[in-house]
Amino acid sequence: MVKEIYIAGEWRLGRGPVIQSNFPADQSLNAEIASASLDDVHEAIVKADQAWRQSAWRHSLPHERAKILYRVADLIEARAEQLAQLQTRDNGKPLAETRALVMSAAATARFNAAACETLNEELTTQRAADFMTMSVHEPVGVVAAITPWNSPIASEVQKLAPALAAGNAVVLKPAEATSLIALELAKIFAEAGLPKGLLSVLVGRGAVIGDAIAQHPLVRKISFTGGTTTGRHLAHIAADKLITTALELGGKSPTIVLADADIELAAKGIVYGIFSSAGQACIAGSRLFIHRSIYDRLLKRIVEISAALRVGHPEQPNVHMGPLINAKHLQSVHQYVELAKAEGGQVVLGGEALTAGELSKGSYYPPTIITGLSNQAQSCQQEIFGPVLVVLAYDDEQDLIAQANDSCFGLAAGIWTENYRHAWRLARVLEVGTVWINTYKKFSVSTPFGGFKDSGIGREKGRLGILSYMQQKSIYLGLSEQANPWAE
Ligand code: NAD
Repeated sequence: MVKEIYIAGEWRLGRGPVIQSNFPADQSLNAEIASASLDDVHEAIVKADQAWRQSAWRHSLPHERAKILYRVADLIEARAEQLAQLQTRDNGKPLAETRALVMSAAATARFNAAACETLNEELTTQRAADFMTMSVHEPVGVVAAITPWNSPIASEVQKLAPALAAGNAVVLKPAEATSLIALELAKIFAEAGLPKGLLSVLVGRGAVIGDAIAQHPLVRKISFTGGTTTGRHLAHIAADKLITTALELGGKSPTIVLADADIELAAKGIVYGIFSSAGQACIAGSRLFIHRSIYDRLLKRIVEISAALRVGHPEQPNVHMGPLINAKHLQSVHQYVELAKAEGGQVVLGGEALTAGELSKGSYYPPTIITGLSNQAQSCQQEIFGPVLVVLAYDDEQDLIAQANDSCFGLAAGIWTENYRHAWRLARVLEVGTVWINTYKKFSVSTPFGGFKDSGIGREKGRLGILSYMQQKSIYLGLSEQANPWAE
């Protein structure tokens, strides 16, 4: 049966083409979905605009909106296993990872509920005795949330929770390959009591439906997570409309290992940093710089640990890496490996798709490690978004900093060292939005996240994340009994 989508609080067949969700492990069909048409987009946005203006929502008290988000968190937790399994079916990540993503989504909803309840407005006093001022925050209106396929439930709740806490309406466009979780989220928000019209989930192709949503005149903010090319396109649309954007984009994150690092901890952290999610992570630590004095020893250990990773069916227990999202993406990853070889790189591990037995049904690629390249190589500069690590040696620290920063991206970095003063100095000069020292890929919902340079604009998460979905208004209250005097 073809699945319905969620248009302004109604479940019905979209009027666009039917699209498929397939299980990346074996290409079996998860669902056929009747995607949105341009008319559906227009209808959802017009109704969203009407819905957020309703007094019942617009003048709702923060704790009333928070209550919905607390319920959302509880419902996500109550259905955690079902949601994790659905997410695995949709994008092929191992269950252990999708379980963690589900719990992070619940935590995000709860955190934003608490932040919403405790946000204060500001009394901006000054010396004038005849008036006082108040700075308040208003919702922006209809928010477009556009998300990628690699961690849907986490990236979607990361947008929905603060945007709704702020009093907006949201039109969500999930990635075409992974729409099922977004549709489940629509059910959860409705069950939690979100008034009709405030949320639509418009499944469809990015270049058609995503673009139409962003272009619509009633959309007043674009919150996007995805590739840099798409982000730049959306930024142009936003510039024309003079609306704000939050853009969480790609990366080619450097990991730096200083000579005094704990080799075992660093090796395990580096392997996790690049190969979890089969490298399909914006923050993947994909560019590794090792001090030459420990290069051979650390590389050997990284290769040993990576070679022992279990690549396999994502529903099997103890699997470290599942399949890539689809065959087209596998082709793209493999072409980068071929490019690295043509640029003079040596593949010291992996480098060919895995096709034995059951693996032939999905797009499986092994942990792949390449040495012998210069940081200028295209394979060291471009985002591969797969399980491919490039490893470089360095001697001089100033040269290391220049190389680490020599990238159009600036999403994240890792530093491994036993000397925290040294790590601090390095952390301050790296041109990235997040630095992990002696750990990697850890996330806290209370810590802002976002990129420098081509990795994005704006920050998500944190207590003040809600404010990025609001606009500030200053209100002056006259206190004088006298008429306004003319300036003298
Ligand atoms: P993508 O840019 O191709 O697609 C992301 C979303 O944008 C999808 O929903 C897609 O349908 C939509 N889209 C595509 N073209 C569009 C257009 N012209 N107008 C409007 N919407 C459009 O990215 P992807 O391949 O789905 O995801 C991988 C990318 O996402 C990688 O570059 C990765 O680094 C990045 N990413 C970044 C973060 C972060 O937080 N910085 C997190 C996850 C993924």
